[in-house]
Amino acid sequence: MQEIKVELTKHPKAKPTDETKLGFGSVFTDHMFIMNYDEGQGWHDPRIVPYGPIELDPSAMCLHYGQTVFEGMKAYRTKDGRILLFRPEKNMARLNVSNERLCIPKIDEAFALTCIEKLVAIDKDWIPTAEGASLYIRPFIFATDAHVGVHPGKHLMFMVICSPSGAYYPEGLDPVKIYVESSYVRAVRGGMGYAKTGGNYAASLKAQDEAEEQNYTQVLWLDGVERKYVEEVGTMNVFFVIGDEIVTPALQGSILPGITRMSAIEILKSWGLKVSERPIEIQEIYEAYQKGQLKEAFGTGTAAVISPIGQLKWGDHVMEINNGKIGEISQRLYDTLTGIQWGTIEDTMHWTVEVK
Ligand SMILES: *Cc1c(COP(=O)(O)O)cnc(C)c1O
Repeated sequence: MQEIKVELTKHPKAKPTDETKLGFGSVFTDHMFIMNYDEGQGWHDPRIVPYGPIELDPSAMCLHYGQTVFEGMKAYRTKDGRILLFRPEKNMARLNVSNERLCIPKIDEAFALTCIEKLVAIDKDWIPTAEGASLYIRPFIFATDAHVGVHPGKHLMFMVICSPSGAYYPEGLDPVKIYVESSYVRAVRGGMGYAKTGGNYAASLKAQDEAEEQNYTQVLWLDGVERKYVEEVGTMNVFFVIGDEIVTPALQGSILPGITRMSAIEILKSWGLKVSERPIEIQEIYEAYQKGQLKEAFGTGTAAVISPIGQLKWGDHVMEINNGKIGEISQRLYDTLTGIQWGTIEDTMHWTVEVK
């Protein structure tokens, strides 16, 4: 295994004093991880250094053609002071799936995780202790070749930064209003929808902006070909409780395979509930709503864990779900997942990894 060099900061920053006002993604810890890739040499020089700006050539390929991938995970502090990661090996595996799609050389998953654990351990005092707060961890890779020609980069950087983040729902689980997007599309089969890459987000900004103008929190994407099948919500996968079936769109290449989605399916099945991963038309959801069978809807993702959907707007149809309140299944899933993540309930699935 390569040696990870560590250069500690001589100027530690002041930590946020009020953890309830942290918000998301704007405060960063004292250190960051960097490793370089150069053709012929492979990934080399893994190091932890003080957090700060990096130098890039203006022709760096990532700035022009979007050869970038990323991950999103969290470190949780338990009541007894331990630090837990949630299924981090799944993030590393998914990073390599994204790498493969973007022609980025694969990383050694176990080594990358060791590097992340070391960074989290060094910056452990930045992990918030307030209820529901956590340390958001953002690994990312980008091509740095100084060359404005289109081809896969031969020089890349793998970095990890960490951001203490506040509780997603400071006032409790509030259902969100979601706008069903019928004109813009995010991804198509054969595209990059299943990869966690910046380009998918660039494609989503305009629709997101227009939805927000109409007071909707996020958009629900439909498939890019027929605009008929449900895909996912902004930064979350989506589930519907229809009668006694819990349905989530099948992974067919245009949807991001969420680790929260995977975990939710495993938990729901362990409770003996019927979960289907299958194509689902927005029309079917509307018909279920009209028949009074659409009982709950919720999004799943690392940031919010479970995000109940209180209203769906599709064209002229406004669907009010469960009277705009969180449903029983959504609440139970939220309690179970967050209970495992913060170590308040037994981790019978062996999903958490302790950072020492
Ligand atoms: C990251 C992400 C998700 C959620 O994935 P998790 O692993 O559950 O955090 C869902 N959709 C998109 C587009 C994403 O980028």
